[in-house]
Amino acid sequence: MTTDTAASRLADIQTRIARAAGLAGREPRDVALIAVSKTHDADAIRPLIAAGARLFGENRVQEAEAKWPALRAEAPDIALHLVGQLQSNKAEDAVRLFDAIHAVDRPSLVEALGKAMARTGRRPDCFIQVNIGDEAQKGGCAVADLPALLDRAREAGLPVAGLMCLPPAGLEPAPYFALLAKLAREHGLAGLSMGMSGDFETAVTIGATHVRIGAALFGERA
Ligand SMILES: *Cc1c(COP(=O)(O)O)cnc(C)c1O
Repeated sequence: MTTDTAASRLADIQTRIARAAGLAGREPRDVALIAVSKTHDADAIRPLIAAGARLFGENRVQEAEAKWPALRAEAPDIALHLVGQLQSNKAEDAVRLFDAIHAVDRPSLVEALGKAMARTGRRPDCFIQVNIGDEAQKGGCAVADLPALLDRAREAGLPVAGLMCLPPAGLEPAPYFALLAKLAREHGLAGLSMGMSGDFETAVTIGATHVRIGAALFGERA
């Protein structure tokens, strides 16, 4: 990807976010665009940094540890979010590396993150992932378990910024985004991490504060 291609893709996504925000009477600046760079190497990421992207997402701790220290040395104002599943034994590595963690979904992980934050003194924003379509194979806590998990996260000292979901594939996502927005409202949470390449405009009209976009920025993953 050239810097020109990266700049035009980034501008196109930002325009579409602004249009969707406008439809819902929202400010575009209230929607953070996370460029999901998983599987893409540093050479594929640099053009987006050159085009002005400063918020990136990865889904694996080890991959991020290999790629990002060097890139961050080149652009120190970059923020890095972990958008994928996290194993408890990687919690401390994740807390050291990331500025936000989007898939907090079970008590054992909450405890591990609480301890890692106490040990490191770092406190990345946490999003609780909700299994919004109640799917057997999907990560995320069950809707019914959300109140208890939130209590635990707050007791463990996690800075809970909001909720995150991946709606069921192949179904109209709007009802699932609306349910996540309702749950966030009920629990007094401002952050809503929802919307990917195929559905981010819908998510923005329903209140997304963080959209996680990979393919539409980088092209299809290898
Ligand atoms: C890969 C990924 C994304 C980005 O998906 P695209 O369809 O490539 O935009 C968003 N969120 C999570 C959790 C992901 O793993």
